[in-house]
This record gives sequence, C-alpha cells and structure tokens, in this order.
Amino acid sequence: EKLFSGFSKTRDNLAVIDELLLYWNLSDTDRVLDELEEALLVSDFGPKITIKIVESLRDDIYAGKLKSGSEIKDALKRSVLGFLTNKEVKTELRLGFRKPAVIMIVGVNGGGKTTSLGKLAHRLKQQGAKILMAAGDTFRAAASDQLEIWSERTGCEIVVAEKEQAKASSVLSQAVKRGKEQGFDIVLCDTSGRLHTNYSLMEELISCKKAIAKIVPGAPNEILLVLDGTTGLNMLPQAREFNEVVGITGLILTKLDGSARGGCVVSVVDELGIPVKFVGVGEGVEDLQPFDAETFVDAIFS
Ligand code: GDP
Repeated sequence: EKLFSGFSKTRDNLAVIDELLLYWNLSDTDRVLDELEEALLVSDFGPKITIKIVESLRDDIYAGKLKSGSEIKDALKRSVLGFLTNKEVKTELRLGFRKPAVIMIVGVNGGGKTTSLGKLAHRLKQQGAKILMAAGDTFRAAASDQLEIWSERTGCEIVVAEKEQAKASSVLSQAVKRGKEQGFDIVLCDTSGRLHTNYSLMEELISCKKAIAKIVPGAPNEILLVLDGTTGLNMLPQAREFNEVVGITGLILTKLDGSARGGCVVSVVDELGIPVKFVGVGEGVEDLQPFDAETFVDAIFS
C-alpha cells in the first residue's frame, strides 16, 4: 500500500497511456506512440529505455503482433518487467557460508543509509540472525548516535569508534573481528556519505573493503548502494561512480513512500545490471521490503 501511494505521481503521469490506448487504431499508431514516449520521459524512464520500449512496441504493432489497446498496454508492462528481471543477478542477499557475512551500506549523505541499515538489521534479526552493527560513518559525528538509536530500537549490538575522527576502516575491521570471535552471523557496516565527487570518500570505501577482506576472506558479501528514490534520474551518475569504484552488488531504493520517481528505477537497473534488493517505504523498523518487480510494475501502471 505504501509503495502504491508513493508512486501516485508516476501513476498519474502514466495514466494518459490508458486514454490513448482506449481509442488507438492502426492509422493512429505514430501519434499515440509519440505521446506514450512523452509520458515515459516525464516519468523518468530516461531516453535510452524509453526509445527501446517505444520502438519495440512500434515493431510489434506494425508486425501485427499487437492488435488492440489492451494488448499494447500488456506488452508495455511486460517490457518494463523484462528490464527489471532479465539480469542474471539475484534479488536475494548472498551471504555465503563463512561467518560472519559482511554487508557494507554505501551511498551519499541523506539518502537513507543509516535508516536502511537499521531496518535491515531488524529484518534479518526477525529471520533469526545474530546481527552486529558497525558505525563506519566516522566523518559525521551524529551518524553513530543515530545508529546507536537503531541499535537500541532493534536490540542489535553495535561497535562505534573509540575516539573522534577514527579511521572508518579500523572501526569496521574491529567490528568484523568481534563478529568473528563472538559468533555473529552478519555484520552490517555503515559508511560515510560525504559527497560522492569527493575522491577521499571513494579511497576510504576501498580501504574499508580491503580491511574487511583481511579478516573474512571473500567479504564483504554484499555492498548495497542506497539511492534516494525521489531524486529521479540524478541517481544514475551517482550509482555509476560508486559501482566503478567499489563494485556494487545490490541497490536499496529509499523513500518510495514519498513522491518517488518510478521510471528511474528501471533505468538504473538496466544501465548498471545491478538488482534492486530492497525498497524503503517509510521510517519505521518494518518499512523495508524485498523488491518485487511485479508489484512495482503494478504500482506504477494503474
Ligand atoms: P544517511 O545520511 O544516508 O545515513 O541517511 P539517513 O538514514 O539519516 O536518512 C535521511 C532521512 O531520510 C531521515 O530523515 C530518514 O528518516 C529518512 N528516510 C530514510 N529512508 C526513508 C524511507 O524509506 N522513507 C521515508 N519517508 N524516509 C526515509
């Protein structure tokens, strides 16, 4: 329901498609597809995906494969679903066999990293895992206070820096070491999110990754990039850069309960070939859901 309400603006933008298709006939195809193209662009699908979708509909219409407005609409929904699901990568977390599994949460400030980490801790704990949180955002003093609140809220233990301005990599390696010695199943690592254009952040993330791998070979098992779902296509260059530098294994899209820009989800998945693993639909402990492409497609098309 929250996802559905968050996409009301996207749905409104796309509602015009229903009207267009209701009165569609073959001779009207080019005009209808032009307007459909416009609706997809306004909904943040981006030019690349929009052109792919519209041209494949055009081909199928002129080849006689789509004979009615409702067949065109179904083909449109199938095509969007295809972009979200045709990757080899899985949407479930890959935690491997070695304990502890380590998940790094990365992204720019304000996107929802700490909140997502807290919600993920709650979710994994409910599934029976013993979770340790690591306050790796040593740059912003308030970040570890915020994570401590999540630690209390979820009943998960936490490792924080012992002194101000500690190195993020040493806090995370201390946490992973403790995770290993004390039999934790999963260590969830928060990281700093100062502007992604700041080179030293990327350097820091790389050294965090190396520090973790020194203690548990093969870890981090997941590096999840948190993207604010309300930022639209602006999330693309951001995602690209994080992926190039640290190698992202999955996405968490947050604030999809607000006024989320639906189409960019499809663009980012298609362009990076990285699956959305979770979506954030609020600020409460329960407000993180596994991503389900079909539910998503139903939420953006009325
Ligand atoms: P960080 O700087 O990336 O760690 O971001 P925070 O976790 O501090 O989140 C920034 C703001 O976004 C906070 O006010 C959060 O409560 C809010 N927030 C995070 N995720 C969601 C979400 O899924 N929905 C809504 N409505 N707010 C969110």
